[in-house]
Amino acid sequence: MFEISRRDLVLGSTGAALMFGMKAPVSFIGAAHAQRAADSLKYQVGEIEVFSLHEGSVERAVTEAMVKNASLDDVKKALAAAGIGPDKIENPYTVTAIRTGGKVVLFDTGYGNNGPATVGKLADNMKAAGLDPAAVSTVVISHFHPDHISGLWVKETDAQVFPNAEIMMPEVEFKYWTDPALVEKMPEAFRPLVKRIQATFPTWKNVKQYNDGADLVPGVKAIATPGHTIGHMSFLVASGGQQLFIQSDVSGIHQLFVRNPGYFSGFDADGPQAEATRRAFYDRVIAEKAMVAGYHFGFPNVGTLSKDGNGYAFAAVKA
Ligand SMILES: [Zn+2]
Repeated sequence: MFEISRRDLVLGSTGAALMFGMKAPVSFIGAAHAQRAADSLKYQVGEIEVFSLHEGSVERAVTEAMVKNASLDDVKKALAAAGIGPDKIENPYTVTAIRTGGKVVLFDTGYGNNGPATVGKLADNMKAAGLDPAAVSTVVISHFHPDHISGLWVKETDAQVFPNAEIMMPEVEFKYWTDPALVEKMPEAFRPLVKRIQATFPTWKNVKQYNDGADLVPGVKAIATPGHTIGHMSFLVASGGQQLFIQSDVSGIHQLFVRNPGYFSGFDADGPQAEATRRAFYDRVIAEKAMVAGYHFGFPNVGTLSKDGNGYAFAAVKA
């Protein structure tokens, strides 16, 4: 899908550098993979090296549950207008990592080996990009949904995958999910996840909690973006006058939820709050002429945003 030839590599680099207004050249790494020609992408934000690492995707049937406040018919029309679906879509997962000051920082973990066969590619794609999973110094978690945290656990034992890393978790999210009363309140399908969180995270000595505005590592700040979950966080990576917003799940797939920010995703805990957060966040990204990276934006998952009618349009870098 993203065949990168020598010529494209040069053109792609130039295109992305222009798009980002970057002084430094942007480089792309094409990793050999069974399904895609390029599953990792490397670029610079000032002095900070950034990596987009494809973790996999899961096919989802398009049903009434996908958007809470729009008809299935309207959702299918919106998907068709974006050139995807309309009966099935791929929900893609892409982890962002940075390397700065000798440290490797992961933003969320994907499923690790806890998901279906079509996910769990993060470790391989890290290695292909020249990042050693065992050398990860910090894992920053955005929120506690399984596609973001499951890679913290070894499937068979619930032991830590990153025992030597500092694991940074949003305090609001940590409090919410570790409340013993939550188990009963959650739908049956979510209870194993809640129990697994409660049996492990509070016992891990390398977990640190953080809040809105925290400086997580030099050049990286936390931004509270609640709505998708109660303690959901996004991140601003800034260096040398350049900025990248790692949005996490401010919205899901861009073709549906960036174009239609008023759609309340079935995964959004608080639809109206998620919409208000989305609009404020995207207006800021545009006003600051920054890049944005989305966990569910496909691959490449990084690019720019523009206003588009009552919504927004995401333009991925050309890789
Ligand atoms: Zn997600």
